[in-house]
Amino acid sequence: MGLLKDKRPDTRMIHAGEPEPRIAGAVAMPVFQSSTYESVEGEDYHDIGYIRLSNTPNHRALAEKLSALEGSEAALLFASGMAAVTTSLLAHLCPGGHLLIGSCLYGGTHGFVFGLLEKFGVSYSVLDIDAPETWPALLRENSRVIYTEVMTNPLLEVADHAAVVAFADAHGLISMIDNTFASPVNFRPCEFGYDLSIQSATKYLNGHSDIVAGTVAGSRAHISEIKQHLDYLGGCMNPHQAWLLHRGLKTLAVRVERQNSNALRLAHMLINHPRVSQVNYPGLTASPWHERAAALFEGFGAMLSFEPDTSVESAERIMKSLEIPIHAPSLGGVESLVTLPARTSHAGMSRAEREGMGISDKLVRVSVGIEHIDDLLADFEQALAKT
Ligand code: PLP
Repeated sequence: MGLLKDKRPDTRMIHAGEPEPRIAGAVAMPVFQSSTYESVEGEDYHDIGYIRLSNTPNHRALAEKLSALEGSEAALLFASGMAAVTTSLLAHLCPGGHLLIGSCLYGGTHGFVFGLLEKFGVSYSVLDIDAPETWPALLRENSRVIYTEVMTNPLLEVADHAAVVAFADAHGLISMIDNTFASPVNFRPCEFGYDLSIQSATKYLNGHSDIVAGTVAGSRAHISEIKQHLDYLGGCMNPHQAWLLHRGLKTLAVRVERQNSNALRLAHMLINHPRVSQVNYPGLTASPWHERAAALFEGFGAMLSFEPDTSVESAERIMKSLEIPIHAPSLGGVESLVTLPARTSHAGMSRAEREGMGISDKLVRVSVGIEHIDDLLADFEQALAKT
């Protein structure tokens, strides 16, 4: 990376990892759509150029760009965010191992830990992310990993990440965080002290809702342990996917800055609206997570949720009346999206379970895009007027 080391993340994400010299002078990284590469004399298995071994020119360039962005020694690419989560956990948890895990996880991760990990001989305990004083009682001799998410979905609660890192250090645990909701523009976990930073690159990193992808950043030693598992488990990224993600990453900073500011303006408008009873967004000073988020993050992100003051039917009417946001799951793209978590991400739980977590049936989740803020505000105003 040479001269780029002392540059800011915005500059690094554009220039880091680009081939030197440029291939045929190409300013944009070309896509190398070849599964295999000509052997050279004396190479061993791990030098073979092959897509599943994550070592094509597209993999190398993108992994370097990503570690420059994350401020980590190394990074690894995966076919999906879930491939990144599951491969990283399996790589660091042996049969007989024990995992400490945050209480409100992305559904796929929740399903893997609660439904499958036990088959591999791994046990787990669930942490109250806001009560570090309760964590020591959950430790066991075989505890290996502590795993959190940067903010919870859809209530945007912020864990005490400083306490997580300190606890992991004190007890020799590997600390892993799913940083998807913040993106490395707003929070760089490896610089903060986490061992491994995981992203569903499907969301902000790529930003255009046109691929599924995952990444992990961390020390060379941790990444090489995960790489060995990835080579065998096979959840590798393909070169075309890497090329699209490489292209998306170049605009990450400007997209996320716009999304941060759009979300803050929308959250302010919603909290002051007479038909809205609750807004969850850590950028609001009224949020119980505001002080912590302000200390940790460079921006508050672009995910928020709110409740209309009346019924589930009102929430449905708002969703139908919105003209700009698309009614769809997922997040992090340039277009705003809205969902009702009770019908989508949290539909697998009973109403009582959801309500116990604070997720009512009328809670609307918004992934704020990069549209003009005045158009978004006007659209939410007209939709709320119909409640
Ligand atoms: N982590 C979080 C926080 C997510 O929201 C998602 C997907 O929505 C994932 C991980 C899984 O990512 P993917 O769908 O790319 O496998």
